[in-house]
Order: sequence, then structure tokens, then C-alpha cells
Amino acid sequence: MSKEFVVIGLGRFGGSIVRELNALDMDVMAIDADEARVNEFSDIATHAVIADTTDEAVMKSLGIRNFDHVIVAIGENIQASTLTTLILKELGVKKVTAKAQNDYHAKILNKIGADTVVHPERDMGRRIAHNVASASVLDYLELSDEYSIVEIKAGERLAGSSILELDVRANFGINIIAVKRGKDIIVAPDPNENIEYNDILIVIGHDNDLNRFEKKLV
Ligand code: ADP
Repeated sequence: MSKEFVVIGLGRFGGSIVRELNALDMDVMAIDADEARVNEFSDIATHAVIADTTDEAVMKSLGIRNFDHVIVAIGENIQASTLTTLILKELGVKKVTAKAQNDYHAKILNKIGADTVVHPERDMGRRIAHNVASASVLDYLELSDEYSIVEIKAGERLAGSSILELDVRANFGINIIAVKRGKDIIVAPDPNENIEYNDILIVIGHDNDLNRFEKKLV
């Protein structure tokens, strides 16, 4: 059985989640207080509903607690976002993901029980900063405040050595989890795998160690 999702708030962020879930063949109920927004999604979502989600009675009548996962994608209106999240948790929805507009908003969402709080703008900003700060870092995924996964382009200093010779685990405390070579991807590469010029290494580790590795070897 496919999972059933609810997306509340059909702006750019929520709208793109609905489109993507639909492309993945998932059932999704799309809710917005704005009729025109809802109409836009009537053919894309499994159900598209006009409702004010800060109204508890309306939420109950939609049977919202029976869904697997509710995503609160209300952006600007922080009051509506927090109240909606609160009602969802009070009604017993197991999994609520909420979009935070800023750090204060995130703090409140965490406090009222949102299971996951996402900061798409902040995260994208950070990814882009890492990307532009270093020509060799192609992408960056923050796992926690201290740990990340980065995609690093292998330059001349790395090319020709095997993973064993580099011994990044001992020397830097980081792990190469995959190597992208052209269209191929080598997952969990063999330690004897030779790194080639322009390979893209997917590396996991502490931010300080990743930085050290990048400065020394890339
Ligand atoms: P984005 O930044 O992703 O474009 P917006 O803040 O522009 O997000 O859009 C959020 C959407 O949430 C809007 O379409 C708005 O109508 C909807 N929304 C705001 N408050 C409520 C509410 N109380 N109930 C339902 N939908 C709401």
C-alpha cells in the first residue's frame, strides 16, 4: 500500500512536494486556504481541499489523524504554521514535518512536537556557500551541526593513488563512501580502487576533518 501524505500550504515549497509525491505515485491530500492555489492542484493531488488548517474542527472532519505523514509547508504566516502543527500533534498525527522560516520559528515548532523541522532556505544557502567557497566541493549535505557528506572533485594530488594508499580513515578520520566516475558510481569502493583525475568522491566525516582533507589533498 502506498503511503498517504498531506501537504498543507501550496506555495512554491509545498507545491513542489505535492508534484514530486505525485510523480512518485504516492497518495497526497493537498490543502490550502486559498481557492485558486487549491484549484491549481486539483489534477495533481489525490484530493485537493480548501480549508483553514488552524480550525481544529475542520481538521477533524478531514480525518487528518489517519494519514501517515503531514507536511506543514506554510511559510510566511508563522502563527498559522505553529497553530496548525500544534493541532496536528494534539489530534495524534504520528509524523509531522514542518517548514521553519527562521531559527525562532524552528524552536517553537520543535517545542510543540514537530517530528522534523526543515529549513530549506537556510540549508540551500549553506550548500551554495560551500559550493562557491571551494571549487572542489560540488555538493554538501549537512547531517548534523558537525557532520556532513560532501562531494569532492579529485584533483591531481589525489589522482593515481588508491584509497588504501591515501588511508583517509586513519589520516583524516573520514570515509569515502562512493566514487562517481563519469556516468558510473562505485558504491562502497574497494580499498584498492585507484582514484582517477576528475573522479567525484562522496565523503562522510566531521566538518573539521573534511576541511583538513580538502585543504591538504584536493
Ligand atoms: P512559499 O514560500 O513556499 O511559496 P508561502 O508562504 O507563499 O510559501 O505559501 C504558503 C501557503 O500556505 C499559501 O498558499 C497560503 O494560502 C497557505 N496558508 C497560509 N495559512 C494557511 C492556513 N491557515 N490554512 C491553510 N493554508 C494556509
